[in-house]
Amino acid sequence: VRFIGKNLWSVSTGDRHGMTRLVIVGGSDAGISAALRAREVDPAAQIDLLLTDRWPDYSICGLPYLLSGEVRRTEDLAHRTREDIEAAGITLHLEHRVDTIDARAHRVRARTAIGEREFSYDALVIGTGAMPQRPPIDGLHHDGVHQLHAVGDALELADRLTHPSAHRAVIVGAGYIGLEMADALRLRELDVAVVERLPEVMPTVDPQIGQLVRRTLEGGGVEVLTATAVSRIARDGNGLQVHTDLRTLDAELGLQAGARLGAAGALAVDEQMRTGVPGVWAAGDCVHTHHRLLAEPTYLPLGTTAHKQGRTAGENAVGGSRRFAGVLGTQVVKILDLAVAATGLRDDSALRNGYRPRTEQLVVPDHKRYYPGAVDLTIRLTGDERDGRLLGAQIAGGLSGQVAKRIDTIATALHHRLTVDELNDLDLSYSPPFSAPWDPVQAAAQAWSAAAPAP
Ligand SMILES: Cc1cc2nc3c(=O)[nH]c(=O)nc-3n(C[C@H](O)[C@H](O)[C@H](O)COP(=O)(O)OP(=O)(O)OC[C@H]3O[C@@H](n4cnc5c(N)ncnc54)[C@H](O)[C@@H]3O)c2cc1C
Repeated sequence: VRFIGKNLWSVSTGDRHGMTRLVIVGGSDAGISAALRAREVDPAAQIDLLLTDRWPDYSICGLPYLLSGEVRRTEDLAHRTREDIEAAGITLHLEHRVDTIDARAHRVRARTAIGEREFSYDALVIGTGAMPQRPPIDGLHHDGVHQLHAVGDALELADRLTHPSAHRAVIVGAGYIGLEMADALRLRELDVAVVERLPEVMPTVDPQIGQLVRRTLEGGGVEVLTATAVSRIARDGNGLQVHTDLRTLDAELGLQAGARLGAAGALAVDEQMRTGVPGVWAAGDCVHTHHRLLAEPTYLPLGTTAHKQGRTAGENAVGGSRRFAGVLGTQVVKILDLAVAATGLRDDSALRNGYRPRTEQLVVPDHKRYYPGAVDLTIRLTGDERDGRLLGAQIAGGLSGQVAKRIDTIATALHHRLTVDELNDLDLSYSPPFSAPWDPVQAAAQAWSAAAPAP
């Protein structure tokens, strides 16, 4: 460490004997995955990981369950402890906000509570995530308006929920995070209203599935207002709480380094997670992503994707040449007693991308009805009319109906470019408490094939 001025220290990581100095900016899914993979591939690399907050490798996806009270302690959300990460030979620099990347000099500068520090690198991975967008609503500055994006936000909201006046919550946006929060706050016995400007909740699935979600919400005591835009939040005696899951991208640092913008204003990266700036890789919510069914990159920020992209970036930053295989947008969410999942394309996106999609819907029990506890699954399966290629699916059903397993079967089939008919050929497990001789996804495949228009 060299002291340059009163408040600026310079840290030259690595040594002079060919050791790679890897600096990673971001300490969540993408950044930590990059660091761990780089360590596996290059045991000698000097790895410095910088993050703005104090919670490296915490599960952001688990925040709703901390707020619901199902997860009791914040530290239970850590995928790994700080000690685990450091034991892997990764040097953590908490509360270091990187504000400058000098890609020519291969240096980044971070602000800390006690001054500025500079880090030199041979390879740099950016995993700074996305930034929550403040939607254009008057009054977002009021005390009682929260966003949910990072661990610190959840702790502020948790504190608010212990306030004696916290009885009612209004959630702006009925995307999956808003709906997970509706579930969480109902569990805390708050009165909950969800406001969505689109005509139906959960715009990532077809309205037929959205209606099931709405019925579940309403049945669970959540007030649902769709086609309704919030324009103003005013303070009254009781206060009003608003949560938002809208996002813009935190691409600023990468841009500063000279990277290009890609889909939806995210950083453009190739399949090796290279930004095009020598020595700089990027991964996670701050980058666009390759979709296996689309010709052009898209923006689909998810934790699973951030882990995989981060792993790819970490490996390549220390000399590897791994390619990120791309996503299908596979996701699953619990909303009260309903599980909702989707993968692949729906009719509108398939049509826009040159496919000729047809979607069929089937309602089928998750296992043989004679065995107690069967729940209905609503499956919407999409295939291409021309060649029978599987394009996507959406499934909604009771929590015991193994919705996640079923969407994952379809995601696997999609990954390997199977046709709907080949999905029907898969050797899937069966015993009456779990399934039927034809698993529900195969029943849906048969329904799709049977509904084909006569030639
Ligand atoms: C409430 C909630 C629930 C979710 N649930 C799911 C789910 O169930 N399944 C799923 O797949 N995805 C889920 N997601 C999405 C998932 O959490 C994100 O896709 C994932 O966290 C992205 O990881 P990331 O590492 O790219 O970015 P982030 O997790 O946003 O982390 C960014 C990191 O960069 C650091 N950083 C940012 N700027 C700087 C800077 N200038 N200098 C230094 N450090 C910086 C931050 O401190 C942080 O460590 C959820 C998201 C939220 C908010």
